[in-house]
Amino acid sequence: MPLGLYIHVPFCRGKCPYCDFYSVIPSGGIIDEYTKCVCKQLDGYKGRLFDTVYFGGGTPSVIGADNISEIIESANIDSNAEITVECNPSDCGENGFDFDKAAIAGVNRISMGLQSAAESERKALGRRADMHDVENAVRRAQRAGIDNISLDIMLGIPGQSEETLKRSVDFCFSVGAKHISTYILKIEEGTYFDKVKDKLDLPDEDETADLYLRCAELIERGGMKQYEISNFAFPGFESRHNLKYWHCEEYIGAGPAAHSFVDGKRYYYERNLSEYLKNPEPVSDGSGGDFEEYAMLALRLTEGLQDIRVFERFGFHIPEKIFEKAKKYERNGLMTVDDGSVSLTTRGFLVSNAIIGDLLI
Ligand code: SF4
Repeated sequence: MPLGLYIHVPFCRGKCPYCDFYSVIPSGGIIDEYTKCVCKQLDGYKGRLFDTVYFGGGTPSVIGADNISEIIESANIDSNAEITVECNPSDCGENGFDFDKAAIAGVNRISMGLQSAAESERKALGRRADMHDVENAVRRAQRAGIDNISLDIMLGIPGQSEETLKRSVDFCFSVGAKHISTYILKIEEGTYFDKVKDKLDLPDEDETADLYLRCAELIERGGMKQYEISNFAFPGFESRHNLKYWHCEEYIGAGPAAHSFVDGKRYYYERNLSEYLKNPEPVSDGSGGDFEEYAMLALRLTEGLQDIRVFERFGFHIPEKIFEKAKKYERNGLMTVDDGSVSLTTRGFLVSNAIIGDLLI
């Protein structure tokens, strides 16, 4: 069974005020050193075939198409693999990220952080690129033949309204995005937003919930379908790599802060680039893939928990108590239940943690 491959690129040109992903500002020859270390790590997996590759971060476009090609070449990648690179539009101007070179190396999907099409919201989030830069970056990727483009939209931004949200969704369709990921802004401990949260004009919980529902409605009206709590796509453009996570399939992670799930075991690399470069030794995180974990991940998907898949994987059926509890939520419009599956509705996704917790105890 081919695996997924996740490469964590721990570099950004600056730190956005809301972000707690692991990244440092690159200097000297650190990018080349990092690339060599990742390639060496991947050498150890020559016997494994990867059919999805995802460069996430941090900002993968910061390391440039040459380093990305080098990493791709060092792994055993299926010829039909989906290869995604997260790009920051501010790195993707005329002399920036070389999409042609990336496409030649096999990159066929780009994920870009739009966050908002309203300049005031982009400013509040500390985004360096303006809307002209975002559109230019998308067009450059498309001209290089990479038309599978995913854009991120953030919900719950200071000052966000339904009107500005609509502008963001409309922008995604106007540039031909095939996939949209939506994220609710969370104030993470240790970030700049955490320090100034009392001064931020943040929508409250109910307003953010309304923005989420409105966003789902607008995106579906444009022709994409929701397939996961946060993700929407035109048919056939769902993220194959991320579906591996939600189907609880195995993957290998390379780079500091990357997690792996392989041969039934989970492990990860510490959030520390210099330690990773000195000694890329993973830390064990126990075993994975039991029914609870599988069900928790499956319920993030609109297809939900499917009895046929559960039986194929575990040799038993979905426990009756899950169907019974799900019927209670179905009466409130939070779940859908039929003979072979239970799934959350879009409204149910808003309270998914509580519902999934209740279904699985
Ligand atoms: S939001 Fe993206 S670009 Fe900004 S600091 Fe986080 S990873 Fe880097």
